[in-house]
Amino acid sequence: MIQLNQIERTFTSDTVETTALANINLSIAAGEFVAIMGPSGCGKSTLLNTLGTVDRPTSGSYMFEADDLAVMHESALASFRARTLGFVFQSFNLIDELTIRENVQLGLTYRKDLTGNRSDRVEAAMDKVSIGHRAGHFPHQLSGGQQQRAAIARAIVGSPKLILADEPTGNLDTENGAQVMNILESLNAEGATIVMVTHSPSHADIARRRIDMLDGRIVTSVARAI
Ligand code: ADP
Ligand code: MG
Repeated sequence: MIQLNQIERTFTSDTVETTALANINLSIAAGEFVAIMGPSGCGKSTLLNTLGTVDRPTSGSYMFEADDLAVMHESALASFRARTLGFVFQSFNLIDELTIRENVQLGLTYRKDLTGNRSDRVEAAMDKVSIGHRAGHFPHQLSGGQQQRAAIARAIVGSPKLILADEPTGNLDTENGAQVMNILESLNAEGATIVMVTHSPSHADIARRRIDMLDGRIVTSVARAI
C-alpha cells in the first residue's frame, strides 16, 4: 500500500537547520497495524505527517498504491486525504463550538463521492465508538476518553483505508487508553491499515509491527509473531 523511498525532511530557519527525517525507507502493507516509538524529537510526528501528506518531504518518493504523493499537487492531495485518510491526535482536536454529532459530520465534509445516507453514517460511526448517547453534547461536557472516541468517530466516518494516530492515548488514563486501543484493534480487524505513534510499550505490543526511531532514522522494525 505504502512505499517510502529515501525520504528526507529538513526544517530550515534563519539560524538552524534541523533534520527531522533522514533516509527513511519503509513499506507498509494493506491491513497492517504499525506502532512507531522513539524519544521526543526523533521525528515520529514528522513521519506520520509525511504519511498523511500534511508535510512534504524535502526529498524522496512516497508511493501510495500507484501514486507518487511526494510530487502530487496540493489540490489532488486534499482529495486523497479526504478519501483515504483518518487522523487521530493526542489532543483530540474537536471543535469546541460544535456538538459531537456536528464534529463527526465534519469527517464527511470533503467526501462528496460516498454512497448511502450521510446521517446514517454519522450515527453508525458514533455507535461504533459508544458515543451516540453524547451526540448532542459539546466537547467540553465530555471526559477525555469520550472526546477521543468522538475524534475517532470523526476519523472513521468516511471509511478511510488508512488511520494515522499520533499518541492517541497520550492524554488518557489507563482505562480510557485501553478502550481507545480496543477500538483501534477492532478497526484494524475490519480491514483498516493503522499507523500509530505511541510512548506505551504495551500499546505498541497490540500493533503487529513496531518501528523504533532515533534522530530521524528508523533503527528497528520488528513484526510480532501472532
Ligand atoms: P517527535 O514527534 O518524535 O517528538 P517531531 O517529528 O515532532 O518529533 O520533530 C522532529 C524534529 O523536527 C524535532 O527536532 C523538531 O524540533 C523538528 N521540527 C518538527 N516540526 C518542525 C517545524 N515545523 N519547524 C521546525 N522544526 C520542526
Ligand atoms: Mg510528536
